[in-house]
Amino acid sequence: DGPKPSYERVLLKISGEALMGDQGFGLHPPTVSRIAQEVKSVHDLGVEICMVIGGGNIFRGLQGSAQGMERTTADYMGMLATVMNALAMQSALEGLGIHTRVISAIRMDEVAEPYIRRRAVRHLEKKRVCIFAAGTGNPYFTTDTAATLRASEMSCEAIFKGTKVDGVYDKDPNKYADAKRYEHVTYDEVLAKHLGVMDASAIALARDNKLPIIVFSLDEPGGFRGILSGQGTYTKVE
Ligand code: UDP
Repeated sequence: DGPKPSYERVLLKISGEALMGDQGFGLHPPTVSRIAQEVKSVHDLGVEICMVIGGGNIFRGLQGSAQGMERTTADYMGMLATVMNALAMQSALEGLGIHTRVISAIRMDEVAEPYIRRRAVRHLEKKRVCIFAAGTGNPYFTTDTAATLRASEMSCEAIFKGTKVDGVYDKDPNKYADAKRYEHVTYDEVLAKHLGVMDASAIALARDNKLPIIVFSLDEPGGFRGILSGQGTYTKVE
């Protein structure tokens, strides 16, 4: 059944845009199902999985405030958008027979569990996929920071950031043919060179908690499982 994964507990971070397919906005259920399959194939290996999904496919606080909306209100709207994405992922995963919990940083008891750290850890031990929704619950943050925070709290061994490219490049690989992918890069290099892996607060939090970030392509079928078993191309930030 292939090589054994070298991780026991991980956090998968994906942006909201990863769920919109080619639509340019919102949710594309076949794309959500495809990503759920990727998660299932890692869950099948016995790996404990946390997920954080962004909300940018529905609403971004900064965009709202640029159009005159009060910033914190716009950020709360962004956080609510992540809850919708989390519910869509929950539905897709449960359709594949995987037990999940959506755990929200903002209380909404009819829809999701409130975040209680020890309870979430217990879910993971029981091999339930924990989808952490509503970001950190605070405006002025991003879901990248939420991912780093939850991964630290849950003692994950690494954050896997699924993107459209297979790692971190020195320049945009879609624009420059000679763009070079880093195999390894330090947190400080990411910050100094503005490499755009995650926002600065997320990178700093990961650095302070010695939490590696592995950037890989989610567009590659079987990519998540491959990366967990040490195959495929990626960039490790540590
Ligand atoms: N957000 C927030 N606090 C958080 C996480 C998210 O205020 O802890 C808001 C913020 O407005 C952000 C939006 O939710 O723009 C969607 O999250 P994000 O931009 O991180 O989504 P992604 O880019 O990953 O799709």
